[in-house]
Amino acid sequence: MTCNFEVCSKGGHHRRHLEHLYDKTKQQVNVVAEASHVNLLDSLQTYVGDIVSPKKCAACDISLRNRSLLCPTCASTVIRWNGSNDDPLAFAHYGGALATALLRLKYAKRPDLAHPLGCLLIDSTIRDLIKWEIEVVVPVPVPYSRLVDRGYNQAALIARPIARALSARFAPRALHRVDGSPKQASLNRQQRLANLRGAFSVRQPNAVRGRKVLVIDDVSTTGATLSACRAALCAVGAMEVRSAVVARTESPDMSH
Ligand SMILES: [Zn+2]
Repeated sequence: MTCNFEVCSKGGHHRRHLEHLYDKTKQQVNVVAEASHVNLLDSLQTYVGDIVSPKKCAACDISLRNRSLLCPTCASTVIRWNGSNDDPLAFAHYGGALATALLRLKYAKRPDLAHPLGCLLIDSTIRDLIKWEIEVVVPVPVPYSRLVDRGYNQAALIARPIARALSARFAPRALHRVDGSPKQASLNRQQRLANLRGAFSVRQPNAVRGRKVLVIDDVSTTGATLSACRAALCAVGAMEVRSAVVARTESPDMSH
C-alpha cells in the first residue's frame, strides 16, 4: 500500500533550521556505545537517573562509568543497518546484545531502556528523517490487555525523543490496536498481513490527515505490522507514511 503524496517545496529553510538545531545539540559520541541526548531536559533526567542508580550495561549488567547503553564487549555485537532511505529505517540488525536489550525493554519491565534506544535510532537516521520532513510521530500501539500487563508501550517510549528531536507532533494514541488480535509468531509475511487486517484503526484522524507521518516500532521482522499501520493511516488521509525501527530482522521469529 502506498500513499499519494507530493514532494514538498517549502522544505529548504525548515530543513536547514532543523539541521542547524541538530548539529548544535548532537553530542560527538559513538552511536553504538553511547546514547546522545536531544535536549537539556532529557540530559537532566538521565543525569538524575545516574545518581539514583548507577548505569549498567543493558545486556550484561556490568557497571559502566559513562552513559553508554552497552559495554564495549556487548556493543561490539551490534551490526549497524546500512540502508539509507530504507523503509523502515533502522538503527541495526536484530541480534546480539541489542536483541537482549530490546527483549528486556519489552518483557523484563525495563522501560528505562527505551529512551537511549530511541536516541540511537534518531542519531542513526536523522539525515533521512529531516529529508522526509516528518510532521507527526506515531508509535505502533499494543493491545490494551498487553498494555495493562506491561504497564507501558515500548514503541511509544522509543518514539517520544524522536518526535522531540524532529520538532514533530507526538501522537501516541493516534493508532489503536484491536484487542484479541492473535500472536504473530510462526506466521509468514502473507499470513501476518491477513492476520493483521483490521487490527489497527485510527483514533485521531485529524492528527494525521494531510500530514507526513512517521511510524515507530521497536523491531520489524516481515514488516507486516508496519504495513498494516500504514494502510490504516493512509485510509484516513495521511499524506505520506514512513517508518523506523530500532532493529530489523528477516527471520520471522519475533511476535510482531
Ligand atoms: Zn555488556
